[in-house]
Amino acid sequence: MIRIALVALTAAVSAAVMAAAPAGAPGSRAAHGIDLAGIDRSVAPGDDFFRYANGTWLRNTEIPADRSTYGTFALLAELNTKRTAELIRTAAASASPGSDTAKIGDYYASFMDETRIEQLGLEPLAPALARVEAIKDRSALAQALGRQLRADVDVLNNTNLYTPNLFGLWVAQDLDEPGSYSPFLLQGGLAMPDRDYYLNPSAPMAAIRDKYQAHVAAVLELAGVADARVRAGHIFALERRIAEAHVSRADSEDVRKGNNHWSRVEFESQAPGLDWQAFFAAAGLGSQPRFVVWQPGAVKGISALAGSEPLETWKDYLRFHALERASPYLTKALVQENFEFNSHVLSGTPQLRERWKRAVDDTNGALGDAVGKLYVERYFPASEKARAEAMVRNLLAAFATRIDRIEWMAPETRRQAKAKLASLKVEVGYPDRWIDYSGLEVVRGDALGNAERAELFDYHRNLAKLGKPVDRSEWCLEPQTVNAVNLPAMNALNFPAAILQPPNFDPRRDPVLDYGAAGAVIGHEISHSFDDQGALFDADGRLRNWWTRDDFAHFEAAGKRLAEQFDRYHPFPDVAVNGRQTLSENIADVAGLADALDAWRLQLGGKPAAGAGGLSAEQLFFVSFAQFWRQKIREPALRQRLVTDGHAPAEYRADTVRNLDAWYQAFGVKPGEKLYLAPADRVRVW
Ligand SMILES: [Zn+2]
Repeated sequence: MIRIALVALTAAVSAAVMAAAPAGAPGSRAAHGIDLAGIDRSVAPGDDFFRYANGTWLRNTEIPADRSTYGTFALLAELNTKRTAELIRTAAASASPGSDTAKIGDYYASFMDETRIEQLGLEPLAPALARVEAIKDRSALAQALGRQLRADVDVLNNTNLYTPNLFGLWVAQDLDEPGSYSPFLLQGGLAMPDRDYYLNPSAPMAAIRDKYQAHVAAVLELAGVADARVRAGHIFALERRIAEAHVSRADSEDVRKGNNHWSRVEFESQAPGLDWQAFFAAAGLGSQPRFVVWQPGAVKGISALAGSEPLETWKDYLRFHALERASPYLTKALVQENFEFNSHVLSGTPQLRERWKRAVDDTNGALGDAVGKLYVERYFPASEKARAEAMVRNLLAAFATRIDRIEWMAPETRRQAKAKLASLKVEVGYPDRWIDYSGLEVVRGDALGNAERAELFDYHRNLAKLGKPVDRSEWCLEPQTVNAVNLPAMNALNFPAAILQPPNFDPRRDPVLDYGAAGAVIGHEISHSFDDQGALFDADGRLRNWWTRDDFAHFEAAGKRLAEQFDRYHPFPDVAVNGRQTLSENIADVAGLADALDAWRLQLGGKPAAGAGGLSAEQLFFVSFAQFWRQKIREPALRQRLVTDGHAPAEYRADTVRNLDAWYQAFGVKPGEKLYLAPADRVRVW
């Protein structure tokens, strides 16, 4: 929830694809560093700022057929996919055997070898299916479920709360003792993205459920499983019961509800059903004495189902989940069926992406740091790193001044806020240290095996942290990923190289445009340390409310008003934005934008600022921000994000300008215009 500056992409919608290049008016961008031609001057900025800044672009742009969204992030993701593919192919050609570069090349080539994959058929999955077949009792079931545990979730940093495995593990700083790591156990077990897909009674969700059951049956049939339709019905019914036990997205984001420490023996008493000893032993956690159970109700409910539901149903469930996860690495028929449901039905994407693009994404997922090292050597010059670091310094200085200026804040709270800001560890471009992949075996010609070994390698790398001192220099994004992140318990920020490039950050244009785009992202991430959840962590990353009671009440009241502001946005007649689910991100957007504006003025040092293209410098700042958030999105993908994403849709993020007085001055926005808020209704959090 909190940390991803930008769009939390789920696997189904992350398609980084380059198709027909949509309109971008490169001529005007070259002249002014901004897409003037994309503006729609027939829209009043005060009525609909997103469409004022992007209306012409929205009209002239089509989402490529193999994508569910298109906009600034997609454009950069596509560019990086092309660049990365070139890097992989070139580097692999001259790599020495056994090196990380050779592994990248072998991984990529194995994924690309469709002929071999087709010849092998289901053979690569045969051992996994045989293990399911051999399950004879509940203990063996628990073992099979434990063997699947992976480090595939993240509560606070990347905020990925989804795993198709029964549970997910996150190894991170303990929230009470931030000097040591703890294993966090999260709810999982659903093949669809969220409990809402199983339980929401609306017509669009009911239609998706019908298609899902047909998909489960189709996958089982492709694997030669008899009575596929009947079994699909049982699998769906089991998943629906798991969904009933699940905690909502908004509740899962609440660290005060999630920070539950359980000793190992408490699992048997608190959550009977699953054979926990067999589960943890198979997961390599047999001797781990303590866990953090993020959603205790869900763990209880799911564990009970492991004891009560028929063993045969669980075995069918495991067969289907094994097939579903392996499908991208198996035959054309399975790849296509997987795409039809997960990308077409769930995200509305009409067309499967070309194989090389999927190969790049998958290689990035498996060997991200090794690819990232090649990426920054080629695409992130030291001069841009230095320029970004200078911008960060201005953002931090401006934020410190904002803290000083808050009238209502008690001196003690102010002192602690300043201390937290001073100890914030900001990292730009790429990590100081890279992941060492020498323990990962990549076998040419074994696409599925490579993917499984890479996941397991990552899992063991995470388990190895338990018992060791916390490493604050560790990154949780790859440099080639278009995103940014705040790590609240580490009190650290990562700004990958990939987000610090045009059109977000460009040495050839007026800095005001950089401050409106990349600057607002940096401000967003800084302010996460002080949003409704960041406010709960002290400078050491300990979960401890460092506010006076009055100050925190003031802060919560401002947050409540912002949540209500977003609750009123209705992308569809039947669905509203969830103001509580997106609150942290919305606070970070308002605070980050205000911080970026201050930081831009700070670096001007009192010099007058020139406008361009008929816009004043202040207008350029806000238009740059709204163009940064330009996006087109297909309806199913938007519906999915409304349920699963801690971020509001891009359009409303752009419209958060309505909370800043400076925006009213810049565009002369008046009462009666649709985005107009009376001064008292504008939310100022920092
Ligand atoms: Zn964020």
